[in-house]
Amino acid sequence: MGAEIIDGKQTAAEIRASLKQQIEAFDGEDMPVLSVVRVGDDDAGRVYVRNKKKAAEEVGIGCEILEFAGSIGENALLESVAELNDNPHINGIIVQQPLPKQINPQKILEAISPDKDVDGFGALNIGKTALKESGAVLAATPKGIIRLLDKYCGDLRGKHAVIIGRSNIVGRPLALLLLNRDCTVTVCHSKTQDLPKISRTADILIAACGCPKMVQKDWIKPGAAVIDVGINRDENGKLCGDVDFDTVKENAGFITPVPGGVGPMTVAMLLENTWEAYKKQQTGQTSSCCCGHHHCHCGHH
Ligand code: NAD
Repeated sequence: MGAEIIDGKQTAAEIRASLKQQIEAFDGEDMPVLSVVRVGDDDAGRVYVRNKKKAAEEVGIGCEILEFAGSIGENALLESVAELNDNPHINGIIVQQPLPKQINPQKILEAISPDKDVDGFGALNIGKTALKESGAVLAATPKGIIRLLDKYCGDLRGKHAVIIGRSNIVGRPLALLLLNRDCTVTVCHSKTQDLPKISRTADILIAACGCPKMVQKDWIKPGAAVIDVGINRDENGKLCGDVDFDTVKENAGFITPVPGGVGPMTVAMLLENTWEAYKKQQTGQTSSCCCGHHHCHCGHH
């Protein structure tokens, strides 16, 4: 028996179609606009930005790309972010990572107005998520993962979620969201001892460490949900995740492919966050919650 494939591509397409409908139906003064700031000559970054722009425009979100030379100073970049914050026509701002060495990425993230921080990486949004406060902009990749788990894996309460990776953009915020959804959460990282043993206790195993095909079949509790966040190249230059998909799928109950799993969901959630930021800026309302549900079920309000 093989695992059921968690179809992130299809799920993301459904979310984008729904967003498109909502945006068309909304009687706003102007269209929602996302601003993407990109620095330097990173080719992968350029591809990611192009994909985001295409996806945004397809659903009716304008996307303005601001490109800077890799030599730009921190203050000049901070000034650009300040201008975007003050521009009433811009609803969401993201700064594509990685940034050149002379720039402190956290300082740039902190400069983005929390209402326009549609990546949800700023301290205020992460802090609100940690405190389970409503109104937090949820980090896009973790939010997309929760959406996939909700669709495929039913009730998350009481399940043991093991996350491999503790980065500020994936592992850490994901741990908070899963905790907010009443999972028992274990966060593993590069200093963790006996990762296979801990992984085998997971009902939900999330790999977000950037290690090509590291997670093996014998790390998987039979029937577990396996979410692969990694985007890597294997020894032949082929795109692969952090999970050895072909063997792990024999033990898992559910599994995300790479590509076509978490990646498209991240972009869809970024668009959703931009749409929600726009509505909030236009009407003062918000519809997403600290629990990660689109329509809140956490009873927190
Ligand atoms: P990162 O490099 O910032 O963090 C990696 C984390 O994994 C660290 O916490 C580290 O302690 C841990 N780690 C590294 N090696 C390990 C090992 N051998 N055993 C256990 N833990 C280990 O990475 P990130 O930015 O969180 O990204 C992780 C992966 O996810 C990358 O492949 C990245 O390309 C991908 N990614 C994908 C999406 C998406 O939308 N699909 C979004 C963000 C990142």
